[in-house]
Amino acid sequence: MSDPLQLSGFDGRVALVTGGARGIGRAIAETLRDQGARVAVGDLRAPEIDGVLGLELDVTDERSVDAAFGRVEAELGAPSILVVNAGIYIVEPFEETTLASWQKTIDVNLTGAYLCARRAVGAMREDGYGRIVMIGSSAGKTGGARSAAAYGASKAGVMVLAKSLASEYAAFGITSNALAPTLIDTEMIAGAPDMSDRIPVGRLGTVHDVADTVAFLASAHAGYITGEVVDVNGGFLID
Ligand code: NDP
Repeated sequence: MSDPLQLSGFDGRVALVTGGARGIGRAIAETLRDQGARVAVGDLRAPEIDGVLGLELDVTDERSVDAAFGRVEAELGAPSILVVNAGIYIVEPFEETTLASWQKTIDVNLTGAYLCARRAVGAMREDGYGRIVMIGSSAGKTGGARSAAAYGASKAGVMVLAKSLASEYAAFGITSNALAPTLIDTEMIAGAPDMSDRIPVGRLGTVHDVADTVAFLASAHAGYITGEVVDVNGGFLID
């Protein structure tokens, strides 16, 4: 692994990462903590991570979102960094996708992003500073390599949501960007066929590939980058 990042802009800042009990979200939380932010992580079961406030959070439930933000505000301060990471990935043929299954994916991946961002932006606007990073997917550009229409549609939605917030809130010192990762080695893709030979750099992505990119976008160095979707994909999709 490369040397740890050295970024600035995190002292005194509070970050909230959704879906961070494991995988990419956990690495993002640990990276932001190591950069000096005060970090809270929400997940369906409150995570235990050293030096991080663990919260129970269901991003699909407006009351749960409000309660989690309330605890972060009370214990750490209002988040000026929001990382929308919670997501689910259901592979199923389109004709077998029930309305309930479709809605579950849209609820977690897209409506959850809307609920968290809507709860976060007021304090950022008043503070004149904010960093929003949403984890999309290359599937939101291509539709995905396998049968996962709801997932692809939800990820397209979340990446456009990040752009919409970028235009609406740029004047308030808030940047909003998304990532479009592909094939990051986590439990989410554990059951998928090995596709590393289709990645030009010759390996799967690591959670640190994603976390370091999020940290840069959340840092003081990225104030002129907003409305962007950053591919973290080893050259899998060059567009
Ligand atoms: P994981 O499945 O390892 O982690 C996702 C986390 O989100 C889990 O801890 C899960 O909790 C949590 N979560 C699920 N539903 C909710 C909810 N309603 N409220 C709060 N938390 C919830 O996935 P990854 O770390 O791989 O993925 C993280 C993000 O990156 C996702 O948005 C994913 O779509 C995206 N991504 C991943 C890629 C990959 O190749 N891994 C590629 C492109 C994008 P629980 O375990 O309890 O279900």
